[in-house]
Amino acid sequence: MSPKLAQVFHEAYRELRPRTPAPPLHVRFYAFVSINNTIRLRQGELYIRLSDLLEGAPEAVLHSIAHILLAKLYRQPVDRTHSARYRRYIAGHEVAAKARLVRQIRGRKHIRSARGHHYHLEEIFEDLNRRFFHGLMGCPQLTWSRNHARSSLGHYDPAHNAIVISRVFDHPRVPRYAVEYILYHEMLHLKHPVKLRGSRRCVHSREFQEEEKLFPELVRAKKFLRII
Ligand SMILES: [Zn+2]
Repeated sequence: MSPKLAQVFHEAYRELRPRTPAPPLHVRFYAFVSINNTIRLRQGELYIRLSDLLEGAPEAVLHSIAHILLAKLYRQPVDRTHSARYRRYIAGHEVAAKARLVRQIRGRKHIRSARGHHYHLEEIFEDLNRRFFHGLMGCPQLTWSRNHARSSLGHYDPAHNAIVISRVFDHPRVPRYAVEYILYHEMLHLKHPVKLRGSRRCVHSREFQEEEKLFPELVRAKKFLRII
């Protein structure tokens, strides 16, 4: 771990929690399938993994990602300046190109299957990721189902880290907000793993439902999905 990187996280921590001493920090770059950054607090120490695509990023960008990760961990609002700077960097031509290349090499399979006739799941995923998850969610395998079953709109398969969306919705008469909603719902499953309350499995926890309400076209999408 570079001392500079640890220092950047220390500074971001001090800004966010000036009265609490920073715990020991372990930051390292990691080869994820797509741009992904994770933070974990374990036995009082912070473990941070940054996508190796951020290696060589300017210090200001690293500071922003440090702020975003720490703010999310400690449930504090993410500063807009930081999320904008991080997004700008990620959207930058060079970074995007490198991410595409890495994705092709590391996860060849899911590129073709995410592309439908009308909607490209990967593109919608990245858009939702940016709008609702600060671009922090790692891209799972995204596929259209092989059949046209209506029984399941979509599902998240944690064993394979895959989101499957019913091919019925890959159709020009299906509005984009409906596809977005189905995918957004499954992304929330990825974010909120099933909890056990006693012997009961809690699939749509209260936090899940609260977060689902952040989707602006929730009512419209649900109405559309009911009529087809
Ligand atoms: Zn669900």
